[in-house]
Amino acid sequence: MKKVVKFGGSSLANAEQFRKVAEIIHADKGRRYVVPSAPGKRFSDDTKVTDMLYDCYQSAGDEKALEQKMEAIAQRYQEIIEGLCLELSLEDEFSKMKEAFAAQAGSDYAASRGEYLNGIIMAAYLEYEFIDAAEVIRFDEDGEFDAETTNAILSRRLETVERAVVPGFYGAYEDGRIKTFSRGGSDITGSIVARAVHADLYENWTDVSGFLVTDPHIVEDPETIETITYRELRELSYMGATVLHADAIFPLRKEGIPINIKNTNRPQDAGTLIVENTCRQPKYTITGIAGKKGFCAINIEKDMMNSEIGFGRRVLQVFEENGISFEHTPSGIDTFTVIVHQTEFMEKEQSVISGLHRAVEPDTIDLESDLALIAVVGRGMRQMRGTAARIFAALSHAHINVKMIDQGSSELNIIIGVKNDDFERAVQAIYDIFVLTHL
Ligand code: ADP
Ligand code: ASP
Ligand code: MG
Repeated sequence: MKKVVKFGGSSLANAEQFRKVAEIIHADKGRRYVVPSAPGKRFSDDTKVTDMLYDCYQSAGDEKALEQKMEAIAQRYQEIIEGLCLELSLEDEFSKMKEAFAAQAGSDYAASRGEYLNGIIMAAYLEYEFIDAAEVIRFDEDGEFDAETTNAILSRRLETVERAVVPGFYGAYEDGRIKTFSRGGSDITGSIVARAVHADLYENWTDVSGFLVTDPHIVEDPETIETITYRELRELSYMGATVLHADAIFPLRKEGIPINIKNTNRPQDAGTLIVENTCRQPKYTITGIAGKKGFCAINIEKDMMNSEIGFGRRVLQVFEENGISFEHTPSGIDTFTVIVHQTEFMEKEQSVISGLHRAVEPDTIDLESDLALIAVVGRGMRQMRGTAARIFAALSHAHINVKMIDQGSSELNIIIGVKNDDFERAVQAIYDIFVLTHL
């Protein structure tokens, strides 16, 4: 068995966590390729090293502040090195960093140092080879991840390497400039490495015992999902289940490599298996619930809009011209709604409204802000009748007004819009009806 193992920030927050990680790695000879994140929070109001680095880079122009902030970061690593009794000095690395910060090397470079330095420590501790992600993970000139070039470089580089540490979260352009993925991107690096080495399994180690039916910050102690498909996972991650980055499945999909989400603090728990497909029936009608706040609905009304060919296209073109991507477009006979991220929309609000007037001459345009979207996802929903009815019943029982409902054509998900203020109660109500009362 060849396994790629990725450890998240809280799994590597201090020396004690590093020890647990090493124990996990040594317990299975198949765990040959290790992808570490930067040190995360050691306690609930601690700061992640990645956030310290972004903040430090902001102070690059102020020598004294830079010095102080850099020292605090160095201290985090020093604590780990000493706690592990390693003969390792990062002094030269910090001198290079200081110079690069002063020379405005960019915030991506700054943030990437979190995983880079943690990778050096991890490799020394495990006595594995260290491979800088900048050498093997490639972005194209538009800043997009270049999957095929990366796969060619990385698989060649790892062909003869029995065991290695490849830091997560970043890569580089062809000219060597560093570029990061979006936040939480070490999950993507793990997938990329798993694909390159044709791994049998990608283990993603974190601080919860798997993918939970919903966010543990909203529902107390939610159940763990045993098995989930890539498609279900993508819907849930995209809608805010941050446990795995939504883009982490793309490299794996090409090879059908399963992911196992595991808990570094409870390695004995089975965790969640994420697979391309499965004939295992889900335990409940739904697999999971996720959601996000901060959306805005632009409701466009015009009599007889249905007979106007190209109406929808012209509406969406206005959003395109303003550089705004849309999330959903529920429509009626004389109404067409576009749902967008509120912060993105607010900057361009007036330009969009006047653009819509010019493009489709609507009777009215009505804006509704502060909406939350909730995705109820499950491969089991296709066979079950009345899922939407049950969701409505649960929400109505909880006195929550449903603002929007949209069912994906795959019948894999139902999206519900509610007011931001009702968000947590709505998630709880849906969880209760499907999981607690097991309907
Ligand atoms: P890591 O640093 O290991 O990558 P993250 O913080 O990115 O970990 O993701 C794990 C966290 O995701 C959990 O601690 C939990 O608070 C949060 N989370 C949100 N939704 C879910 C969910 N559906 N299942 C599990 N965890 C979730
Ligand atoms: N350290 C990065 C972040 O905090 C990447 C990651 O943790 O996956 O976003
Ligand atoms: Mg993460």
